[in-house]
This record gives sequence, structure tokens and C-alpha cells, in this order.
Amino acid sequence: MTISENVKTVLAQVTLAESKSGLNTGQKTTVIGVTKYVDAVVARELVAAGITNIAENRTELFLDKQKELSDLPITWHLIGTLQRRKVKDVINSVDYFHALDSVKLAREIDKRADHVINCFLQVNISGETSKHGFSPEVLGQVLPEISSLSKVNVVGLMTMAPIDATDDELADVFTQAKNLQETIASQKLPHIPCTELSMGMSQDYQQAIQHGATFVRIGSKFF
Ligand SMILES: *Cc1c(COP(=O)(O)O)cnc(C)c1O
Repeated sequence: MTISENVKTVLAQVTLAESKSGLNTGQKTTVIGVTKYVDAVVARELVAAGITNIAENRTELFLDKQKELSDLPITWHLIGTLQRRKVKDVINSVDYFHALDSVKLAREIDKRADHVINCFLQVNISGETSKHGFSPEVLGQVLPEISSLSKVNVVGLMTMAPIDATDDELADVFTQAKNLQETIASQKLPHIPCTELSMGMSQDYQQAIQHGATFVRIGSKFF
């Protein structure tokens, strides 16, 4: 299968999943292509096939790809854990940062940003120790401080389901994320609109969309 055939398949499945989602009719999903597995030449093919939201999970590779593809109209997503000391190198080049996982990191972003940065708070719903992110309980406690940081705009929540999750477990994780996102949005805190949900990868994007994902991060399925 070529990249452009894979893109067609994924986009058709996204549309199907949107139509099955009983949550809000007219839901629109942004499909992000995760290019960490491929070089800039291959990433360029993905963009040519219509995927103009591109993500990398490491600072250096993010900056390299962005430089090599600077002639293309791309919305850039940084999806991986970001070390505080690297914030200054990368944050002003990022359109969406998906892995805000501590208050210290939020403070550093606020300090280094020269404009408002769209961020997703990463939540660890499944409780796996291998995963980064706020637990749902802690998240409630840190919102007031994050809300006070005027350059950190919390557009939504990001989560990852366990790799080996059954359909029931996926439904459980994604439903909890959706409920948490709506609860936070309803608080109408400054700089925390929290209207979006970044969840779903190659294995589980269809289930994620059916449970309200508005951004899916898809890598291996394209390549
Ligand atoms: C690699 C990665 C993805 C994409 O994973 P695939 O299973 O290849 O689709 C999504 N999100 C994050 C945070 C990643 O690191």
C-alpha cells in the first residue's frame, strides 16, 4: 500500500467513526500524521497526500523536520514528553503541544513563550506507572495555578490507552477522558477552554473518535 492509499483508508475510517459517534453530530476530527518513524522525504509524501497536521515526539527531530519542510503549509504538533531545559529551544515553534504533564513545565512554558501556546494537559487515566500525565484527582488541584499562566492556553486533554487494552477497557478510558474534559470546560476557567480531546493512535483511533476525540495522532498506519 502506498502512503496516499493509506491516507484514503484512514480518512474513510475517520468519517465512518464520526458518523457512529453519538456525542455531537457534525463532530470534526483533526488527523495528525506522526512522522517520527520516517525521514523528511517520506513525511513530505504524507503532506502531499493531504495530511497537513504533522507531529514529532522529540525536540531535535521536531526542529529538523520543521526546517526541512519549511516550504509546506503545515500545522506543527509536539506530542512527546518535553524536558524543562528544552522548552526554550522549541516552544515558540510549536502550534500545539500535547504533553503538558506538570505545573513546573507549565510555568517554564509561560516564562519562555513569546506568544500564547496551545497546550493539551496529558492525563493518565489508566493509572499505568509507565505513562506520564496528571492523574484525574491531581488535575483538579492544579487547574487554578495553570489558569493563572496567561501564555499557556489549555485547549484540551490528551490521553493514551494501554497498548493491550480490550474494547471495553478502551471505551472506559476514552469515556473517562471525555467526561473529565467536559467537567473542566464547564468550569470556564481563564486560559482553559478545554474543548478538545487528543486521543487515539493507529490501534484505537476509531474507538477514540466514537468517544469524542477531536485530534487523533496516527503514525504507523500511514507507513
Ligand atoms: C508514536 C506516537 C503516536 C503514534 O503511534 P502509532 O501507534 O504509530 O500510530 C501517537 N502519540 C504519541 C504520543 C506517540 O509517541
